[in-house]
Amino acid sequence: MMATRSRTAAAVIEPPTPRVPALMHPDVQSLLAVQADDLEVYNLEDRLTSLAPRLAALEKERGKVASQLDKARASIAAEEVRQREAAAHVETNRALVERSQRAYESVTSPKEATAAVSQLEQTKRMMDDAERDAAQVQGRINELRHHVADLEKGVADVEERQASTRAELETERAAIDKEIVVAQAKRDNTAKAVPAAMLYKYDRVRVRKRAETVFPLRDKSCSACDTAIPTQRRAAMAATGSLEMCEGCGVLLYAGE
Ligand SMILES: [Zn+2]
Repeated sequence: MMATRSRTAAAVIEPPTPRVPALMHPDVQSLLAVQADDLEVYNLEDRLTSLAPRLAALEKERGKVASQLDKARASIAAEEVRQREAAAHVETNRALVERSQRAYESVTSPKEATAAVSQLEQTKRMMDDAERDAAQVQGRINELRHHVADLEKGVADVEERQASTRAELETERAAIDKEIVVAQAKRDNTAKAVPAAMLYKYDRVRVRKRAETVFPLRDKSCSACDTAIPTQRRAAMAATGSLEMCEGCGVLLYAGE
């Protein structure tokens, strides 16, 4: 309904004539449309790039806890090596105790008995030491296992806290990807109206600048940097619609305003 009414109103008033400067060549107009599409693609690509630091910040936050967890797990692995060594040490000493015990039981003189008792006591002390070492290692392992469990919970908490943000980022990324495909297709279509040589000239500068590439002359100068353009070149631009590179800033200039 609204559309019909406004069309009628527009027809009554007077159709607005686009204010295209008389001097602007139609090829240049087509190229400006391509440039507008390219700038939209760049805008989308920049938005895509801007997601990276946000994802990196999430990774960093998770990484802090995750690296502590890795360290704690490595410590357990190292302690488990010590635990095996300590257990072997205990076994060795236990065998020595048993041997000393047998030696003591088979003594034949008081002198031998004194020596055997002393030997037995010494091996028992060594075994006690070995068992104490083994118990200490076991204690450290138990502590580390608690620490690992806490850190595992910490990582899970971070992941849970980040889940919605990550999902948002992923949705945003997918949406921008789609928009880029559409914008690129639109651009390719718009570009069909531009003569190949002009498009080639434009694209070469554009990929280097990755920004606005084509600018109008303003009075007698480049509107991007104010470098004056000689009269003859300006006349040629106006006559043929050709693009001229500004010697001051490297953009492509067109006559038209
Ligand atoms: Zn310039």
